[in-house]
Amino acid sequence: MIKKHFLVVGGGVGGLFIAKKLSDAGHAFTLIDNAENKSSAVAAGLINPLVFRRMTLSWRTDEFIPKAVEEYRSIEQETGSSFFHALNIRRLFSSEQERQFWIDKHKLPEFSPYMNPLTAEDDTYAKAKNDFGTGRVKQAFYVDTVTFIAKAKEWLATKGEVVKEQLNYADIDPVLASFKGKLYSGIIFCEGVYVRENPWFNFLPVSSTKGEVLTISSNELPEHESLNRKCFVLPLGEKSFKVGSTYVWNTYDDLVTEEGRKQLQENLKYITDSSCEIINQQAGMRPTTVDRRPFIGKHPEFDKLFVLNGLGTKGYLLAPLLSAELCSWLDGKSELHPEVTLDRLIK
Ligand SMILES: Cc1cc2nc3c(=O)[nH]c(=O)nc-3n(C[C@H](O)[C@H](O)[C@H](O)COP(=O)(O)OP(=O)(O)OC[C@H]3O[C@@H](n4cnc5c(N)ncnc54)[C@H](O)[C@@H]3O)c2cc1C
Repeated sequence: MIKKHFLVVGGGVGGLFIAKKLSDAGHAFTLIDNAENKSSAVAAGLINPLVFRRMTLSWRTDEFIPKAVEEYRSIEQETGSSFFHALNIRRLFSSEQERQFWIDKHKLPEFSPYMNPLTAEDDTYAKAKNDFGTGRVKQAFYVDTVTFIAKAKEWLATKGEVVKEQLNYADIDPVLASFKGKLYSGIIFCEGVYVRENPWFNFLPVSSTKGEVLTISSNELPEHESLNRKCFVLPLGEKSFKVGSTYVWNTYDDLVTEEGRKQLQENLKYITDSSCEIINQQAGMRPTTVDRRPFIGKHPEFDKLFVLNGLGTKGYLLAPLLSAELCSWLDGKSELHPEVTLDRLIK
């Protein structure tokens, strides 16, 4: 195989995994990131195979979950660090109907790997508000996002080039795939919501869904599992918890708001009445698409420009496998999954 050298723009979870998979495949990479991350670094890092709202399975979950486990564990091993944790997610049912949904779905072979059967203890669970019983998810995980980003960047710098810089698009020649005069085999853009600034890929319908999260401290909430109803509560250790998230469509700012804080406090009341102290509030921007599928592929005119974007609300679940699929496709070893290609824009 001929070794190639790619320029990767953006060091969120998407760009970091692209760089890893290029390196795994024997290619060289230069990763440019301005270190002003407003999405991957703010994310809670939850990996949940279920979508509670409709009690459905997350897209391609049978493929995404094992690949995520493999890739995060591999980076943990390489870096001698710990940021990927199995997590017990407990859904607090919001109605008798939802509890019945759980019972019915659990019987289906495609759901049973991800749902525990309901037990008497689940029904009488007393560590939070429990109106209609509770259910525990199987195969859920949590990525400590700040540690992951720091460790992955540090490790990637030993495998290729990692540059902290704001990339100026005027320094790129899109035909030659050169940056500041240096030629690359290709340029892969992974800028999250900032794709709107990209002169070649700003036609992609990726918008920003703003989300806010709180860090709280509480003496009452359980520290060994994540609770979910209207919002999630994720234990961080030492009696601190992340509570999230809000969803505000088409909003391109990362400012924390009083509205966001109040909404999260209101939502938290569905889980607990106990008092808690707010320690921190953060906001970020999710790169979302209307059909909830990412965009991966080549520019329609410049065949050395590539993109991976639209990871939406589940970047930490999707990025490990999608970046592997993109790299395999770049090497001509496989096709891209039909639901992610840019062809769907033409259709
Ligand atoms: C509040 C909140 C909670 C979330 N919770 C979860 C969760 O629990 N689980 C989950 O899986 N996902 C979650 N997400 C979604 C997840 O964060 C996204 O899917 C993911 O971060 C998108 O990653 P990305 O690499 O595409 O983009 P980003 O993380 O935005 O990375 C893009 C990077 O490129 C950089 N960049 C852009 N332009 C340039 C340039 N010109 N030069 C240099 N650098 C540039 C940016 O600064 C940034 O660092 C959450 C998001 C938010 C906001």
